[in-house]
Amino acid sequence: MKDSKIINERLRGILPDDDVLSQCIHCGMCLAVCPTYELTKLERSSPRGRIKLIKSVARGEIEMTKTFSYEMNFCLDCQACETACPAGVKYGSMVEAARVELVSAGFISPAGRLIKRFTLGYLFKSHGRLKAASRLLYFYQKSLKRFLHASGILRFIFPKLAEIDKLSPSVSKVFSDDIIPEIDNPAGEIKYKTAFLSGCLMNVMFAEMNIDTVEVLKKIGCQVITPKGQVCCGSLHAHNGDFDTARELAKKNLDIFSKFEFDFMVSNSAGCGAFMKEYGHLFKDDPVYAEKAEKFSERVKDLTEFMVLVKKEIHFGELKENITYHDACHLAHTQKVVNQPRELFDEIPGLTHVPLEESTWCCGSAGTYNIVQYEASMQILKRKMENIRATGAEIVLTGNPGCYQQLKYGAEKFGVNVKVEHPATLFNKSLDKSKK
Ligand code: SF4
Ligand code: SF4
Repeated sequence: MKDSKIINERLRGILPDDDVLSQCIHCGMCLAVCPTYELTKLERSSPRGRIKLIKSVARGEIEMTKTFSYEMNFCLDCQACETACPAGVKYGSMVEAARVELVSAGFISPAGRLIKRFTLGYLFKSHGRLKAASRLLYFYQKSLKRFLHASGILRFIFPKLAEIDKLSPSVSKVFSDDIIPEIDNPAGEIKYKTAFLSGCLMNVMFAEMNIDTVEVLKKIGCQVITPKGQVCCGSLHAHNGDFDTARELAKKNLDIFSKFEFDFMVSNSAGCGAFMKEYGHLFKDDPVYAEKAEKFSERVKDLTEFMVLVKKEIHFGELKENITYHDACHLAHTQKVVNQPRELFDEIPGLTHVPLEESTWCCGSAGTYNIVQYEASMQILKRKMENIRATGAEIVLTGNPGCYQQLKYGAEKFGVNVKVEHPATLFNKSLDKSKK
């Protein structure tokens, strides 16, 4: 492990300045919305406590320890504390910076480092490699996985692994970029030119959400441009402390998308949308990419955000369904997209929307949190599923693939009779019934 003085020097370079770290006025308004503080009631597991820890390490008053590392990784990075904070403290950037430094200071197991290198540094850097690996996984899921679970062998030998295996999403039979053409036009007049990121996991594991999204856009008069050669947006890498690879991927996307003309960049994944909105900030000091990135980020909109902007063009058909809605953290807290989905649900004739208690409380998915912090994640998920059960809704909607998968798993684990859907699927069904 590196010398603590060196670490403290480096932390000062990575973290926001001391005056930013000192913006926290210790009011405690964030405590009531923090899922990890709710679990432990320990000050160090609260936003306020973590900020104090980061500040103390950055100032060299305390050393990085295993407890410090644990608390930084026990945090979900859900950013509910940012929404609640009256002082405008940007907590997310602090904890993300601390995680970057923890990794480079050696607070990661050799196995963890190897897994990260293989997944983020190799697989997720190339669509081709990710698709090839997903095809192998598809065959495992359709054959060996079924046998291992049905026979109970996996649960008997590795009970934890059996649960984690169930948490992983199913690979789509057909990948979305094999179906969606590079330029897809609506049946009638082109009213808007939109670009679309098919994504990495969205492409191979949630292909139907991408297909529904493109269908929705076309039905409301959009030309949809899904450039070939695009790559992962880089959010997975940035959230795991690898900003160099995140920038490399973002540059590739900026170059590829800049070859096309479009008015809006529509995202159907809360995490990707939030990160693409950050491209401008990511390249603010880059002499080549600063302007390009800023212009790109300005046009990024979540699907629901975009649909509200063009609401006059949308004619929903009747849908007699009973739904509730879970706010993905990267939509509600990071992008502040809260009212738009609800506004659209109100427009659908026949639809019953039952408000979800604590809808902006994290579901416990949070990237790989549900794997590395399985027990805590399940406690958080249980609370979410009980709230969903109380609505009596037959469908729970959510605009992020991680939440979608976590809620699907939660419905089965906690016996809640609810179907999980992406809002694009609901909108597509309704638009199919449109009379105009
Ligand atoms: S990001 Fe979420 S889990 Fe982390 S301190 Fe803030 S509210 Fe708590
Ligand atoms: S709400 Fe903001 S200012 Fe108040 S304790 Fe939490 S982080 Fe600090």
